[in-house]
Amino acid sequence: MNIVLLGAPGAGKGTQAQKLVEEFGLVHISTGDLLRAAVKAQSKLGLEAKSYMDAGKLVPDALVINLVKERLMADDAQAGFILDGFPRNTAQAVTLDSELAAMERDLDAALLVDVKPEVIVTRLSSRRTCRSCGYTAPAGVDVCPRCGGEMHQRDDDKPETIQRRLDVYQTQTAPLIEYYRGHSILKEVDGDRPVDEVYADVKALLTA
Ligand SMILES: [Zn+2]
Repeated sequence: MNIVLLGAPGAGKGTQAQKLVEEFGLVHISTGDLLRAAVKAQSKLGLEAKSYMDAGKLVPDALVINLVKERLMADDAQAGFILDGFPRNTAQAVTLDSELAAMERDLDAALLVDVKPEVIVTRLSSRRTCRSCGYTAPAGVDVCPRCGGEMHQRDDDKPETIQRRLDVYQTQTAPLIEYYRGHSILKEVDGDRPVDEVYADVKALLTA
């Protein structure tokens, strides 16, 4: 099962991905995690990414695509994967399709976790992230349950930046919904409900 996850930041994609990983043995490929790991490992791509991040610049598409490609070729990704945070725009989606075709693989579904912008703002402003591993939890959790690291509020999750992130999502990522609808693999789920209810629908859609 090869899946692309779609949805605004804070829609709960990570939580749903985790459940799919546990139940179906898929590999969760988050570009945020990939970048952090590459930087930490000081790989060639990691050092290159770090030079952009240190300069406060966006890591270029080509670099992110190479990281994703490398990850997709790893042994543990052969049984299936969930891509989270990639593709971010239609150009990346087209590149992903051709990279997968070259590996004689393809996508089974683009899963959209749909949540209204006003709900997102409330969710994100109360989100805390682990400084070491990127794990996220609601405010009130001070120590990371995954690695024991310190939880903090990322600048990205401060109210003044959330609206800007939602605007970026609307302009760049929302067009992907139409792209995948056009490829007849779009599956939509209402993400503004309890996690387990959302997951029940996700599972029904993916295994239908
Ligand atoms: Zn952690």
